[in-house]
Amino acid sequence: MKKILILLFFFLSNNVLAVEFHGKFIQGHFIIGKTESGTKVLIDKKEVRTSDDGYFVFGIGRDRKYDVVITLNKDGNKQKIVKKVLKRKYDIQRIDGLPEEQVTPPEEVYERIKKENKLIGDAKTVNSNLTYFKNKFIVPIKNTIITGVYGSQRILNGEPKWPHYGLDFAADEGTKIKAMLDGTVTLAESDLYYTGGTLIFDHGHGISTLYMHMQKIFVKKGQKIKQGDIIGTVGSTGRATGAHLDVRLNWFQTRLDPETVLNIK
Ligand SMILES: [Zn+2]
Repeated sequence: MKKILILLFFFLSNNVLAVEFHGKFIQGHFIIGKTESGTKVLIDKKEVRTSDDGYFVFGIGRDRKYDVVITLNKDGNKQKIVKKVLKRKYDIQRIDGLPEEQVTPPEEVYERIKKENKLIGDAKTVNSNLTYFKNKFIVPIKNTIITGVYGSQRILNGEPKWPHYGLDFAADEGTKIKAMLDGTVTLAESDLYYTGGTLIFDHGHGISTLYMHMQKIFVKKGQKIKQGDIIGTVGSTGRATGAHLDVRLNWFQTRLDPETVLNIK
């Protein structure tokens, strides 16, 4: 009898914590988790913010190969979930005949680039309690086509460069850009070396979106923006090969595929 009671106690105190995931465990993907309120959540040993109603969010990097380990802990009841990551194949994009200064920046701009990278990096570290990331994103430009996708490897004048982490929309100079999601502006810069007119929005829990090469910017740092608000216009500022909008999605410093939240395929 005593044995049975002990066993029963064991089962009751170790009941499985409820958790569900929206999103796929594929390279570049954005994943929302929902668990019981008050549960502590770790992604790969790093604690992530959970909302009062148990939502958390994370993403999988472009080249991640190893499993994602999610640890849940509620009042000492610990649970570990291990998820395999599916690999993707990325396009290789070769662009030849570019002016050399477009492939390798001149030395006199190194300091400037360093400073600007820090500005962008800092904006991506914001870890607010906003929960807009739970809502559906909208496409920032109407009636457009995609001319560049996430993950493609660029080889410029034969030199392998950083992969392309954005989603490019073809659009004329001056086309209005809509905010994809509610959020707070954490960076508004009109002239960065690479990205030109640049906006970054915080959507909560480390999720940010970035808009680049903008011609005009209509919002200010610190401003709260509603989804669908016109935030600026398409341009070709920074190192852009013609007018287009490049948008990005980040979970802190991890760059994710915007297509995984936009449902445009
Ligand atoms: Zn781009």
